Amino acid sequence: MTSDADTLCVGICLPDEDETYCIGCGRPWGSPTPDTQRYQVIERGWLSSNSILLFDGDAATLVDTGYVGDVEQTLKLIKSTLAGRQLVRIVNTHSHSDHIGGNAALQRAYGCRIDIPAGIETHITHWDEQALFLTPSDQRGERFRHDGVVRPGEWLRMGGMHWQALAAPGHDRDALVFHSPEARLLISGDALWEDGFGIIFGELLGDSNSGGALEAQRQTLDMIARLGIDTVIPGHGKPFGNVPAALDRANQRLAAFSADPARMARNGIKACFIFNLLDMQGLPLAELESYLARVPFFRDVGAQHLGMDIPALATWLLTELKKAGAVAERDGRLLPTMAA
Ligand SMILES: [Zn+2]
Ligand SMILES: [Zn+2]
Repeated sequence: MTSDADTLCVGICLPDEDETYCIGCGRPWGSPTPDTQRYQVIERGWLSSNSILLFDGDAATLVDTGYVGDVEQTLKLIKSTLAGRQLVRIVNTHSHSDHIGGNAALQRAYGCRIDIPAGIETHITHWDEQALFLTPSDQRGERFRHDGVVRPGEWLRMGGMHWQALAAPGHDRDALVFHSPEARLLISGDALWEDGFGIIFGELLGDSNSGGALEAQRQTLDMIARLGIDTVIPGHGKPFGNVPAALDRANQRLAAFSADPARMARNGIKACFIFNLLDMQGLPLAELESYLARVPFFRDVGAQHLGMDIPALATWLLTELKKAGAVAERDGRLLPTMAA
């Protein structure tokens, strides 16, 4: 982003030298605007990430927009939550399909600007469905035009608070989290949930550029631990306190994955398959093997990390998901049991 975007309500913020006021928006640094309701978290089912609306007077910024399959619901929810205020800006934590799926429709509806993490700019500009992990995972997205990028270290003002964008590689190499020191708040995307974090795709896909995604995730958790935050607004699940306990759980999970990478592969395949099954609203059981063979993420992670061919992968997956009560069989169709 450049400084010409530093308009009153939606600019990138920067403290002055004494850190007494913001040279972007002119408000006092370190003292949040006493808005009665500065933000609202919209939480949904599996397919869509949380969306966070942050209000600055009549203007609002939205962090993450859910999955493209939920877009009509997204438009309705955003409209009702805005309650007459104007959506002026979308900011994304990272490029995954469950976080950027409503960007295009909201941009059409509100003419808002869209700011994306700097690391994904090339993928978004060229709508590279391979790099955006849409093709490898058989997920969908709708192309959108971005207006600017947010770089690690930059400050944004949202909801009357100043937020610093911080690099949070691991789950996604180019992900950002947003930290408000004054409010002791963190918008964490999929870098930290109350119970864990998002799939470490870089580790599973053998991406030579990932440079050790598990190690990156560990460093991201360490970075979050140093921030001194009271509350996390995660990409999935309710906002939570007791951050040290959540970090402990995340670190334990990370240690378990390091000790047993196959466990990470099994979790990743199961979570991704349920996501897709929800999106497809079921799958004929007779097509399960051909589907797994067709989708690179299932086929390749199954072969490389679990040593399973397609029939073995299908048998294992079906057994596991039935045992967990995550799928049901009806009239020859495999159906998800949880809410989309
Ligand atoms: Zn997510
Ligand atoms: Zn994600």
